[in-house]
Amino acid sequence: MMGAIGQSRAVLSNEDLKIRYAWSLDRKIEESCARIIDWHSRFGGRVSVSFSGGLDSTVLLDLVRNKCGYPDVPAVFSNTGLEFPENGHFVRSFPNVHEIRPKKGFRHVIETFGYPVVSKRVSQYVGEVQRAKGETATKRLRLTGMTSRGTKSRLGEIPDVWKPLVDCGFRVSDKCCDILKKEPLARAMKTFGPPFVGTRAEESMQRELSYKHHGCNAYHMKSPRSTPIAFWTGRDIREYIQRESLPYSPLYDMGYDRSGCMWCLLGAHHSDDNRFELLAKTHPRVYAFCRDRLGLFDVLAVVERLWGERYRRKAKTTEPTVSPNPALVGFRIS
Ligand code: SF4
Repeated sequence: MMGAIGQSRAVLSNEDLKIRYAWSLDRKIEESCARIIDWHSRFGGRVSVSFSGGLDSTVLLDLVRNKCGYPDVPAVFSNTGLEFPENGHFVRSFPNVHEIRPKKGFRHVIETFGYPVVSKRVSQYVGEVQRAKGETATKRLRLTGMTSRGTKSRLGEIPDVWKPLVDCGFRVSDKCCDILKKEPLARAMKTFGPPFVGTRAEESMQRELSYKHHGCNAYHMKSPRSTPIAFWTGRDIREYIQRESLPYSPLYDMGYDRSGCMWCLLGAHHSDDNRFELLAKTHPRVYAFCRDRLGLFDVLAVVERLWGERYRRKAKTTEPTVSPNPALVGFRIS
């Protein structure tokens, strides 16, 4: 039996999710609109759309404003300061878009907290061990998986391949998204109302778990949010854009498959990831800034070497430099 979408106590099984993924696009539109209408009505119309300019949020904005008939719902564009200029122009071409910015920039984040690498979870765990004062329970959990109850938690442990990052010579942290994205969006929510967000369950394990736990409309979360296209697939998104002839960010015709931060390191170590090769071609000055001022490629080389050693994959870039980029030195752990 299928669980109800959008109810606060919805608990969806893998089977429920599989069934939803298999729905036709028309059925998905219908279901998404039902969730949007519920959300809009629950908050008396004081709601917003979190609009990044990516394909997912472009579809979401169209569903809210055109399919559901709420043309006045404001869109909130969280400009991290790492936005592609082409994407910024695209976003600003829509009416009623409010641009918000973080209080601090990326450079402050890496200097103060450390680099986001591999994934948010790995960055969080490695950062916790690096900052631990002495042999704490958290440090033991992250390094061995042993909880304070003496049980083993695989999910609480840093995967073996990434444990050397703890002593890699630069700081690692998961604070980047919190500071550049989450805090400004939390501020915006107070002004514009609880947001619709275009995240989808198939994008990550965390998003899938969240969808299974909350359904689309997470009314009872600390920061309530609606993810009405959570059960759509990437193929649905592209089909909708084509079918409705929606304009989309020019980045997708420049070879990029995402519109987010220009130089994020999360996931960049995968051998099929070519974001920096593309950046070197399309925005060479930004590429040089990443290399010369932010030290990103020294960090990435270390991550890629660990990944390559573990999986015996051919590293995409050269071996890590023995003498680090001077831009990195200030960010090292003493
Ligand atoms: S996506 Fe990457 S670069 Fe952008 S805010 Fe999050 S961690 Fe930072």
